[in-house]
Amino acid sequence: MISQKLEPNEALTSQAKIDALKNAISSGLLSEETPLAGFVDLDGIKRTVESLMSSFPSHFSHHFAVKANSINGVLKALNATGLGAEVASPGELAQALKAGFDKNKIVFDEPAKSKSVVKLALEAGVNLNIDNFEEFELVKALVEQNPPEANLGFRVNPQIGAGSIEAMSTATKTSKFGVPLEDEGVRDKLIALYQQHSWLNSIHSHVGSQGCPIPLMAECIAQVVKLVEDINTAVGHQQIKNINIGGGLTVNFGSEEVFPTFETYAQTLARVVPQLFTGEYRVLTEFGRSIMAKNGFIAARVEYAKVSGGRKIAISHGGSQVAARSTFMPNAWPLRITAHDTNGELKSTDLVKQDIAGPCCFAGDLLAKNRLLPELSRDDFIMVHETGAYYFSNPFYYNSLPAPPVYGFCGNDANQPLSIIRKAQTIEEMMAVIG
Ligand SMILES: *Cc1c(COP(=O)(O)O)cnc(C)c1O
Repeated sequence: MISQKLEPNEALTSQAKIDALKNAISSGLLSEETPLAGFVDLDGIKRTVESLMSSFPSHFSHHFAVKANSINGVLKALNATGLGAEVASPGELAQALKAGFDKNKIVFDEPAKSKSVVKLALEAGVNLNIDNFEEFELVKALVEQNPPEANLGFRVNPQIGAGSIEAMSTATKTSKFGVPLEDEGVRDKLIALYQQHSWLNSIHSHVGSQGCPIPLMAECIAQVVKLVEDINTAVGHQQIKNINIGGGLTVNFGSEEVFPTFETYAQTLARVVPQLFTGEYRVLTEFGRSIMAKNGFIAARVEYAKVSGGRKIAISHGGSQVAARSTFMPNAWPLRITAHDTNGELKSTDLVKQDIAGPCCFAGDLLAKNRLLPELSRDDFIMVHETGAYYFSNPFYYNSLPAPPVYGFCGNDANQPLSIIRKAQTIEEMMAVIG
């Protein structure tokens, strides 16, 4: 059997992550009492945002999709890099404002905005994307009383197709998001509304998420830009100045390697939709997963190792409460796991098949089934990779398990103490949330 060790081209995990884990164990932050934590790579965030910004020209402005990781310390770190924020609820708006994002750099996207929420967003002066024609009437009534400060426009769905995960595909024919461009009469109605309302100066489309291939995304965006050109021609001048192309770049969950890169995406867009690169439009993006997934991991202590029906099972403290997506949809969202000893060192013993179970009381609470890993035993740790977006930041209160603490590390200094990004939730705080 091959052993689990670091090969130059096939890194299972990075030295920075191992150092962070070892630090947390030796300083008592991960222990019998606190057996589960999330970790955020603060240097990694800077590097990722740099690669995003340098891949696109400067008339692109990038926004982080707050739902991917709304922890205050993470949002502050992202705000410090110069990103804006994409929010989809009054809660996310409050989180973005608290983290210091400027209102001009906030985009509001909720599909079910009530009248009071539309009012709240308009009064906050943030950019607003209108999901459907009924919402348009609400917005119009409010805008006619008070001319808007911010950019407004429709979210459109080019209805081009699905990626590999149906629940993540937003540009299908029957998607719940946006105005369906190919439905009969819709395109003409949209063009007429832009002609009649000069305050509509933007367009938005978020055409996919994990599993959506780059060529399909680019094709969708090309359709949106074609609509923009048709509208501007019909109006007679460049009324639409802002084109928001959403987020949705896929993340590699299979190794440490980052691909596809922002650069690859930018190159494809430049070929398929060159109009975005001339500088005649301000282009907005809203990446979430591709900014944070690889900049976070979960570490959990193994409480017991047992055998059942011949199957080896390691029972750890990380399960559905921090990785609901993967335990409920294991085929769509498999997570990479590495095995570490009691000190946090990568284990390099022979690989054996084992289930990695979580602490929750339902049979599907497994992070991995029949996974080949060095045999885990009591007091070992597992590292669960690519969990910086949509995992430990989005806790699930199954079995009333409190949200774990989150620590920040800076990869270039193994001895630097970890920073506290989020304190461990107490039982009292958990009870206050559940009510
Ligand atoms: C979720 C979402 C995003 C971010 O998607 P990722 O796949 O995390 O990049 C961007 N825009 C909108 C409107 C979203 O709903």
